[in-house]
Amino acid sequence: MPGHSPVLRLYWLSVRLLVVLLGTLAVATFSLSAFALAPLHSWLLYGDWRFWRHWHNFPRLTRQVRRVAFKLAREPDYRGMTAFMSASDWLGPPMSAPDRSLVTVRADWPHAAGTCGSCGRCCTEIGCPSFDPRSKLCASYDSPFWRYFPCGRYPATQAQIDYYGCPKWAMLADALAMEEAGREKVRAAAPPLR
Ligand code: SF4
Repeated sequence: MPGHSPVLRLYWLSVRLLVVLLGTLAVATFSLSAFALAPLHSWLLYGDWRFWRHWHNFPRLTRQVRRVAFKLAREPDYRGMTAFMSASDWLGPPMSAPDRSLVTVRADWPHAAGTCGSCGRCCTEIGCPSFDPRSKLCASYDSPFWRYFPCGRYPATQAQIDYYGCPKWAMLADALAMEEAGREKVRAAAPPLR
């Protein structure tokens, strides 16, 4: 991971471990620890210290932690495609968008590159309680949790794109290869120069 100091990487790792610890505690205490540390949970999950605006969601989020843990334990497909389990991601910087050296927006994506239109598959597929199916918006969007964990860096692999059937993103290498194949086809069909 060039360009990032070991101190910074350790800091990022520490934030992630703290979130995992808090999530585990919340599961073990049936959300009681989340209520006891409400401002911290509120900031991590919603980027907002005003916990009274969000704490009605804490029990649902605790159930989601349990559900994701079960999926990781029981579903090899889910475990295989979850990028944040790789060591480099645990030590990597928080992100608010996927790595554009790995993925690109598909040429046939009908919406602006910065939006997911009316999709939401990667949120609904795992039943995320932060996603509002009516507004199609995520209440945790760009929060520390969102940036430090998979949401902010999705997608990074073909397996992730396939798992959610994402209609927006494609692996950059595949998109470039398809472009080149298209150019080759046009060249082959063009009449020869005299
Ligand atoms: S599946 Fe793809 S297009 Fe749909 S919400 Fe997720 S990232 Fe956006």
